[in-house]
Amino acid sequence: MRQTGREQILTTLRSVVGETYLLTRREDLACYDQDASIAQPLGQALAVALPATTSEVAGLMRAAATYGLPVVVRGAGSGLAGGSTPTPHALILGLNRLDQITLDKEQMVAHVGAGAITAEIQRAAETLGLFYPPDPSSQTASTIGGNLACNAGGPRCVKYGVTSDYVLAVTAVLADGTIVRWGDGLAGQGTEQSLAQLLVGSEGTLAVITEVTLQLVSLPPARRTTMALFAKLEDACATVEQIMASGLVPSALELMDDTTLAAVEAYLHLGLPPETGAMLLMLSDGEPETVAHDAEALATLARAGGARLVQVAQSVSDEAKLWQARRAVSIALARIRPNRLGEDIAVPLTRIAESVRLIKALAEEHQLPIVVFGHAGDGNLHPNILFDARDPAESARIWPCAEAIFRIALAVDGTLSGEHGIGTLKLAFMHEALGATQLAVQHRIKAWFDPGGRLNPGKVLPAL
Ligand SMILES: Cc1cc2nc3c(=O)[nH]c(=O)nc-3n(C[C@H](O)[C@H](O)[C@H](O)COP(=O)(O)OP(=O)(O)OC[C@H]3O[C@@H](n4cnc5c(N)ncnc54)[C@H](O)[C@@H]3O)c2cc1C
Repeated sequence: MRQTGREQILTTLRSVVGETYLLTRREDLACYDQDASIAQPLGQALAVALPATTSEVAGLMRAAATYGLPVVVRGAGSGLAGGSTPTPHALILGLNRLDQITLDKEQMVAHVGAGAITAEIQRAAETLGLFYPPDPSSQTASTIGGNLACNAGGPRCVKYGVTSDYVLAVTAVLADGTIVRWGDGLAGQGTEQSLAQLLVGSEGTLAVITEVTLQLVSLPPARRTTMALFAKLEDACATVEQIMASGLVPSALELMDDTTLAAVEAYLHLGLPPETGAMLLMLSDGEPETVAHDAEALATLARAGGARLVQVAQSVSDEAKLWQARRAVSIALARIRPNRLGEDIAVPLTRIAESVRLIKALAEEHQLPIVVFGHAGDGNLHPNILFDARDPAESARIWPCAEAIFRIALAVDGTLSGEHGIGTLKLAFMHEALGATQLAVQHRIKAWFDPGGRLNPGKVLPAL
């Protein structure tokens, strides 16, 4: 890009958002180079614009269309697939200033800006006795726009479904700057609803989501956690199957393997019995009588499944204690190795034990610590490969190991991504995962939305 051309472009972009909200210095741009994964940027961005309204986003998109600029949308950058990292000469749109939250108690909906933080929406809903269930573990950082773009899940999704289940309407800006509002924002049954849903999971490759209307539900009046420790991973996985087949619907059913638990124990000294093979954390919520019944029924199923220790929380402080291990996973793992490649496969419930066994065998083969935890109730596993990026030999073993995990996911009829998306990290596997016909259809959809191929290029969709 010639210098005069560059200055002209920057002047146009400044005229939309103002001097303060256009970042161009290398040290400012560096903050946008990575997301929470180990993905490296595909190139250096031209600038970061921080618009405050949908019409400013539209102005920026018109300018990007005029100058042929690639556009990368960014929420909180908590993504784990490299989706929001820059491509060469890209205009990065940081949407954090679009953070308005308006609640309609009567309609039980929330009208929110794409940059609103997920946990802030949840907190606002709860003050009115309402509930926004999707709960990615990154909820105190992630934006709702990022959640839509990745169709985020979380522990509660086993009962309540994922982000797409709560999207009633979307305001978005198309590649040429056209503003669209799709969905009726009421019952979610309008004909435009399917267009709104098309943007969910599109990872910034089809349009820029700027505002969202979300369905809320009633806040469950009671909740109770049941924790079970198993000597054998197989018994824990078989118990997950039994629970899901029993008709009980826990609102979370989380699994942690032995290596994860050993890391947590070394960090927190919770007094977990030695040689614990797996932990299940099961949450029930709803009316108090139902919750009490379900928690006991889950405990009974866990004992029948071979659990050596089962505890049902009796108080709020018990609850917090039982979830302590799960919440400490990230920090505990960082004490083993400073870096990790966090994977996100989804496998059929009947094949969780087999998948975990195959994945753990890779640790020895590739000489890398691997831990597995995840939302077992819907088969969403997070195998994490731990490594030290300062050690070139160890770093070189990461990708062959990650590829082996993806192949296991596909071999057991699973998927490459349960909730984190494809970004750049899983791009190479999309041919194998989707097949030629589905890829061709997705390319046709992409071509309609983005004929110039400027929205998040090099991500999600591999060339045909
Ligand atoms: C510790 C940790 C725990 C996590 N736990 C979970 C979990 O339990 N469940 C889960 O689903 N994920 C989880 N994640 C992953 C991540 O937080 C989610 O993918 C989240 O939805 C990303 O939101 P974000 O605002 O950070 O998006 P970003 O990382 O900024 O962007 C992610 C993708 O969405 C696109 N995008 C962002 N905003 C928009 C928009 N407004 N319009 C169009 N495209 C957009 C970007 O271009 C990019 O492709 C976790 C991450 C971390 C670090």
